[in-house]
Amino acid sequence: MKCPFCSHEELKVTDSRDAVEFNAIRRRRECAHCMKRFTTFETIDLSLQVKKRDGTYEDFSQDKLTHGMDAACRHTRVSHDQVRAVAYKIKSDLMANGSREISSRELGDIVMRQLKETDVVAYIRFACVYKRFKDIRELLEAIQELEQGEMIHATEKS
Ligand SMILES: [Zn+2]
Repeated sequence: MKCPFCSHEELKVTDSRDAVEFNAIRRRRECAHCMKRFTTFETIDLSLQVKKRDGTYEDFSQDKLTHGMDAACRHTRVSHDQVRAVAYKIKSDLMANGSREISSRELGDIVMRQLKETDVVAYIRFACVYKRFKDIRELLEAIQELEQGEMIHATEKS
């Protein structure tokens, strides 16, 4: 760390205390060169963890999410910008909920819900990869479920 006033690197901590409201540690520092004082906050940088099928964890990546959705949305009416917006929404929702951990299954379900509302073709393509349909029957069942859902929607609206 450098002094924000003179860029000198020799700093002295004059006081250190918990800043409970930010879950942070607040430190008063004094530059050994220009003697000016300033405050720093040390916070926990906790990223959202995705628990994968094999039980291992990885950092949630909005890029990776965007990439996976882009693949499903290729040659559909869904644009890259729409995909990015959806990925951003998913991330913000998770952050707003204060989520620290999500399983790849839950994440996949959230993506499916979002895609279902955005574009049915994109939804089916994503579901094909994500659900790993074993055969055409499973795929047809998923489509049937989707159609039934739409009918319920239609009934609700009328
Ligand atoms: Zn200084």
